[in-house]
This record gives sequence, C-alpha cells and structure tokens, in this order.
Amino acid sequence: MSAGEDAGEGGDVCDVCSGEAASAPPATKYCLKCDQFYCDQCSRCHSKIRATASHVVVPDELQNQVKSDREKITELLKKTGGFLPCIEKDKCDLVKRLADVERQINTAADKSIEAVERDRAKLLSQVESIKLKRVRQLETVKQEVEQHLASLDSLRQYAETLLSSGTAGDMTRSANSLHSRAEELATKVTSSVTCTTPFFH
Ligand SMILES: [Zn+2]
Ligand SMILES: [Zn+2]
Repeated sequence: MSAGEDAGEGGDVCDVCSGEAASAPPATKYCLKCDQFYCDQCSRCHSKIRATASHVVVPDELQNQVKSDREKITELLKKTGGFLPCIEKDKCDLVKRLADVERQINTAADKSIEAVERDRAKLLSQVESIKLKRVRQLETVKQEVEQHLASLDSLRQYAETLLSSGTAGDMTRSANSLHSRAEELATKVTSSVTCTTPFFH
C-alpha cells in the first residue's frame, strides 16, 4: 500500500508536505518510480532534482483511474470465473437429463418391438396350425380319390370284359350290379371332391 492511499477516495494529499504540515495540500501528480503523490510545488522540485528528474510522473487522477479500473477488472475477473462451475454444472445436468430421455425412448421402443415380435410369433403359429390341419385333410381326400380311381379303373376293365367277351348270361347277371356299383362310386367321388372345395377359397 502506497503512502498516498491513506488520504482516501480521490483525496490524495502530497506525501512530502504531509510529513511537515498538519494539513497537507492535495496531490496533483504521482511518481511511478517513487510510488509517491506530490502537490504542484513538490512535483516541480521533484522534476528539478537531478536524481529524480528522469522519473515518470503522471497526473493524480490518471493514477486513481487506473487503480479503480484495476479493482473493477479484478472484481469482474472473479465474477466471470464464478460462471465456469455453473456452466459445467448445467452441462452435466443437461447430459444427464438427455440420457434419461434416451433411456425412456429405448425402453419404449424395446417394448414395442417385443409386442410386435409376440404378435408375429402368435400369428405365424396360428397359420402353421391351420396349414397342418388343412394339408392333413387334403392328404386324406387325395387318398380317397386315389382309391376311387383304382375302383373305377377296375370297374371299367370289368365293363370292357363284359362288352368284349361276356355272354348274354354274364351280361344279364352282372349288368345290374355293375350299374349300382358305378352309381355308388359316382356318389363317393362327388362327396370326396365336394369336401375339398372350401380349401381352394
Ligand atoms: Zn508538497
Ligand atoms: Zn520520483
């Protein structure tokens, strides 16, 4: 702390005169080298003395202005530095909040995907069981139709034989049974084929 600061705000007094008189005159100059305030008279002496003639002297107000600016800057520096932890905290909070949002989005999406997968598995298994049931039914009908084909074939051969080499007696004995057998097979074929119809729609 320099001697001049004892005089209070803007009221610096001459450091030289204050050591001699009870009421020192106000300072008008400040010497950077001596770190002292001078009144007009002492300042003139200071510039005439060979040892101090080269010292840099500035107006008292300028010295005060620089000092007050330095204090303001120091205060602003402290205040500005104080923002850093707040910004860092805001950043951390934001990242944490957004991580929560991300987690929620992922959880919801996972649930939806699970539900879709469950539906798919259920629908596919339904289709599979329908397929198995109907394929089995069609296989049964196919076997029936194959049996009918075999029966019809042998009946046709029997009719051929009757027509080509049978006697009138054979014809008389067999015609009626051939006829009823043919009628019966026609009904069976119709019934087998009719029951397959729903599967083709
Ligand atoms: Zn003086
Ligand atoms: Zn000086």
